Amino acid sequence: MALNKELLDILACPQCKGDLELSAQEDGLICRACELVYPIQEDIPIMLIDEAVKLDQWPNTSSD
Ligand SMILES: [Zn+2]
Repeated sequence: MALNKELLDILACPQCKGDLELSAQEDGLICRACELVYPIQEDIPIMLIDEAVKLDQWPNTSSD
């Protein structure tokens, strides 16, 4: 069910090419540099800047 960790290693933020981190609920990939979250839908990360959600508008992230 959880996103493959090797896949997570391969994926990078499409905007800054930086590392992504899995959200607490494993339903999004967080770019801390851009403060964006790329949603994961049915185990498929949506790596589109247009589909990304602002980190402060994402309900399932801790802020630390
Ligand atoms: Zn980024």
